[in-house]
Amino acid sequence: MFVTHLECPKCNRTYESEAAVQLCDCGSPLLVRYDLDKVKRAVTKADLIPRNADLWRYRELLPVRNRDNIVCLGEGMTPLLHLNQLGRKVHMPNLYMKDEGIIPTGTFKARGAAVGVSRAKELGIKVLAMPTNGNAGAAWAAYCAPAGIEAVIVMPKDAPPIPRGECAIAGASLYLVDGLISDAGKIVASAVAEHGWFDASTLKEPYRIEGKKTMGLEIAEQFGWRLPDVILYPTGGGVGIIGIYKALQELEAMGWIEGKLPRLVAVQSTGCAPIVSAWEKKESESAFWEGANTLAFGITVPKALGDFLVLDAIYQTDGCAVAVSDDDILRAEELLAACEGTFVCPEGAATLSAAMELARTGWIRPEEKVVLLNTGTGLKYPETVRVAPPVLEPGDTLPKS
Ligand SMILES: *Cc1c(COP(=O)(O)O)cnc(C)c1O
Ligand SMILES: [Zn+2]
Repeated sequence: MFVTHLECPKCNRTYESEAAVQLCDCGSPLLVRYDLDKVKRAVTKADLIPRNADLWRYRELLPVRNRDNIVCLGEGMTPLLHLNQLGRKVHMPNLYMKDEGIIPTGTFKARGAAVGVSRAKELGIKVLAMPTNGNAGAAWAAYCAPAGIEAVIVMPKDAPPIPRGECAIAGASLYLVDGLISDAGKIVASAVAEHGWFDASTLKEPYRIEGKKTMGLEIAEQFGWRLPDVILYPTGGGVGIIGIYKALQELEAMGWIEGKLPRLVAVQSTGCAPIVSAWEKKESESAFWEGANTLAFGITVPKALGDFLVLDAIYQTDGCAVAVSDDDILRAEELLAACEGTFVCPEGAATLSAAMELARTGWIRPEEKVVLLNTGTGLKYPETVRVAPPVLEPGDTLPKS
């Protein structure tokens, strides 16, 4: 393993990585650091080619010491689709979508869970607890089952129903709260303090980012190590955008990529847009978003612990932050399915809506290579499609189409 230590991006304090550490003493999330020179000597781009098409193909940049601890359900190396039909229609001929809709558990939360749970198993953790808007809980419950770790999951009672079933069938202890993910987080924090459990909340342990970082590694490899101009990401807790930025920085340090990094765009819903609001005011942290409400449940995070890291990734790459309405999200979801056959989650659809807006204003130029990150499958959100097909009576015939 090439991990050297854990590091605080806020106060630079360092921690030893073989203990089950949570946050820095200053309250900031911790980042995993590697000996990148050593990684560079140990592996080449060509070495990757024959490896399995899962995220463990990047094992030198991942934090698991002993391969026996890896819990793998086949996550990673999701398709990077060129959206030919849709791209022409919306005047972005080089429009791509990284499609996480076909990953185990149906959302990219599987990446964070695969690496987070594998590392938790390696560190000897027996019980972990987490608040969730649904998809993270479903993924962590699934990976905890084969890892032999007990998962305690707390989610808002208004969260979409499918992840509930996923948690329950994987054997997690599931609780619902009448409130938001921030309320679930408070309950988990006090239970963790009382029972000595491991707190697997977003960014309260350092390894989930490492799993999500592999999206950035894959985008680089799938484009032949020549990066796109823009990557749009539906931002809740921000782990994905922080992870993608970290991946690109690590590849840059290893000399595997060169030139300007892609401009990173954080996409939120107008019903919960704390990062957008902070970016508009050029602030380095966000303020708690009161009355958060959007059908894109995975990005309903009123105040993210890693907000300063999200904003830093945007500023450092000359990116931006965009909020789109739920109506536009639903229209984008329809457009993607009708043009490309991809039934995406509302969070993923939000990135199309934002890209169209940025193309209209000229922030995205027509020739630029643009990647939408679809974070999950629309199959988990059946309520976003309303259909009322005509009911046939015996003897009816079909009209000519
Ligand atoms: C959790 C989630 C997000 C937001 O991810 P973060 O990394 O927390 O910003 C986006 N889309 C879906 C489908 C999610 O489940
Ligand atoms: Zn610190």
